[in-house]
Amino acid sequence: MSSVAAPSDRRVVNAMSIDVEDYFHVSVFDGVVPRQEWPRMESRVVANTTRILDLFDEFNLRSTFFVLGWVAERNPDLVKTIANRGHELASHGYAHRLVYDQTRSAFREDVRRAKRLLEDGCGRPVIGYRAPSYSITPRSLWALDVLLEEGYEYDSSIFPIRHDRYGIPVSARRPYAIERTVGTLVEVPGSTTRFGPLNLPVAGGGYFRILPYQWTRWGIARLNRLEGRAAIFYLHPWEIDPDQPRLACGRLSRFRHYRNLERTEERLRRLLTDFKFGPIRDLVAAYRSEFSAAPVTAPLPYLW
Ligand SMILES: [Zn+2]
Repeated sequence: MSSVAAPSDRRVVNAMSIDVEDYFHVSVFDGVVPRQEWPRMESRVVANTTRILDLFDEFNLRSTFFVLGWVAERNPDLVKTIANRGHELASHGYAHRLVYDQTRSAFREDVRRAKRLLEDGCGRPVIGYRAPSYSITPRSLWALDVLLEEGYEYDSSIFPIRHDRYGIPVSARRPYAIERTVGTLVEVPGSTTRFGPLNLPVAGGGYFRILPYQWTRWGIARLNRLEGRAAIFYLHPWEIDPDQPRLACGRLSRFRHYRNLERTEERLRRLLTDFKFGPIRDLVAAYRSEFSAAPVTAPLPYLW
């Protein structure tokens, strides 16, 4: 591990992304806080996102913010602030429903509503989408067609790992083009490192918060140096909020959601010191110009 762990490489520009939602929107709490209760919950998303924006300003960093439509609708000033501070606004859908639990028409309505809210808020086109809990899987590949039809240009929802709720373990580990009959979507998967036959997540969320920081540092350095690729990092505003109300849940969910909340902001600061980051749209633009003559396509396995 140590041979690529230090010093870190600041020549590669990695991609930073924040999924802007509140602590009670997280999929593991679906059965704990029903949607009709959401308006009555204490909202902490604006304060937490503002702290992240301030930290990014400190490092002169531009990021992508995948904002939940439900949050955008109630906090239009937050949407404007994110855009005015130079960041990319992208869509996390409207109601945080898992893609494979929705019908095609319900999904279309959800992503259309979120896109419209965000575009009205920032006055610019929104081209990126990330599904709640990375829920584009072999069961919901039809969603890619809907995204294209609704004007999205890239997706960041297909994690090339094995997980109990998401993932297509054999899908590509780098940005790639997915050709569908209705068009071509650029897929920007969350970052992994190869470990024997496995792809292990190295860049964000619980993997960043729960595992020691060295895991992320090693993984991103390895991607940057050995593979010459940018990492795609992700985090949620609630992950830097140790004072959020505790919700009832099982032991595994409690561990996944609450572990190390008090350490994550400082850890994020270390990450921003060690590596360079930009928004996903820059990575997509670079990918497009690099492969404009002969796009690298990675057809997904349609038969499972
Ligand atoms: Zn989410």
